[in-house]
Amino acid sequence: MSESFKAILITRDDENRQSVAITELTEADLMDGDVTVAVEATTVNYKDGLAITGKAPVVRRFPMVPGVDFAGTVVASDHADWKAGDRVILNGWGTGETHFGAYAGRARVKGEWLVHLPTGLTPREAMAIGTAGYTAMLCAMALERYGVTPAAGPAIVTGAAGGVGSIAVSILSGLGFHVVASTGRMSEVGYLKDLGAAEVMAREELSGAVRPLGKERWACGVDSVGSHTLANVLSMTSYGGAIAACGLAGGMDLPATVAPFILRGVALLGVDSVMAPKPLRVEAWRRLAADLDRDKLAALTTSIGFDGIIDAARGIVEGKIRGRVVVEM
Ligand code: NDP
Repeated sequence: MSESFKAILITRDDENRQSVAITELTEADLMDGDVTVAVEATTVNYKDGLAITGKAPVVRRFPMVPGVDFAGTVVASDHADWKAGDRVILNGWGTGETHFGAYAGRARVKGEWLVHLPTGLTPREAMAIGTAGYTAMLCAMALERYGVTPAAGPAIVTGAAGGVGSIAVSILSGLGFHVVASTGRMSEVGYLKDLGAAEVMAREELSGAVRPLGKERWACGVDSVGSHTLANVLSMTSYGGAIAACGLAGGMDLPATVAPFILRGVALLGVDSVMAPKPLRVEAWRRLAADLDRDKLAALTTSIGFDGIIDAARGIVEGKIRGRVVVEM
């Protein structure tokens, strides 16, 4: 029998009540795939919080090993692109939702889901970035593709003290944008300024009633909050600007009017990380390895052990986690 390893398992009883526990699995328990990876680091994203708490129907197969992100080393492969010893990252593709995910000592996945761990990044740094940071980079790249530059005006980042937000602040300030960071935690002004925010704005300024058009305050932005916040952000975006929307921490609705689109030519750019095609992923990770300030990454990261995952998952859906959490296995 193969060696056992620690894993988190989400189960459901006959009455559809969800429970979560740390258990032991062996490789025989893993799902089908052509590459087996020794997981060396993982992280806790908002989606992992939703999965573990059951607050949203992220898990679509039970039992499930949650965890949408891991970095590790290939231990066995039947896939032409990978061999034992390769260092890899996985983000999304339904892991932790429909396929056993990252919160286990071993993961068996499809080789086409993996990307190489970029040279210069440790597995721990890759998971400090994680899906949140990779999504922040996808947002920055979407804005670049649209053609917005720092010369056009400031960039707003909402949910700025969260994972996507903290890394978006670092990336956009590194690209030369005047970053306006919106947060519900004004105690984090110093933290956000150290990451590169030029201004910090209280969350309440964006969470109230939405006017069709407001004063033009920024040319672009990254929104991880959705709902009234995104609607207000759009109404305050300057002529020809663009907002990359990736999150729903404040709600999935969008109580906006079409005024910003039809009167100011504002663009709303949707960003998805889960099914993003491989060339986009490889480019996002190349940029993250090359451009993300490592001191800022260290400053926004907290480390926990495997036994801390469930508490951190509960904390993230309550908006209590600052920046990024890395799990050292
Ligand atoms: P975090 O919990 O780390 O950050 C979310 C932040 O949003 C919080 O820190 C808080 O920031 C703010 N926030 C939380 N609740 C509210 C609220 N009710 N109203 C307004 N602001 C709120 O999560 P992540 O950064 O990991 O993820 C952020 C969002 O992005 C999530 O919705 C997640 O599902 C989504 N996401 C989407 C991806 C995609 O592929 N499209 C990939 C990754 C994430 P502050 O304290 O500064 O106000």
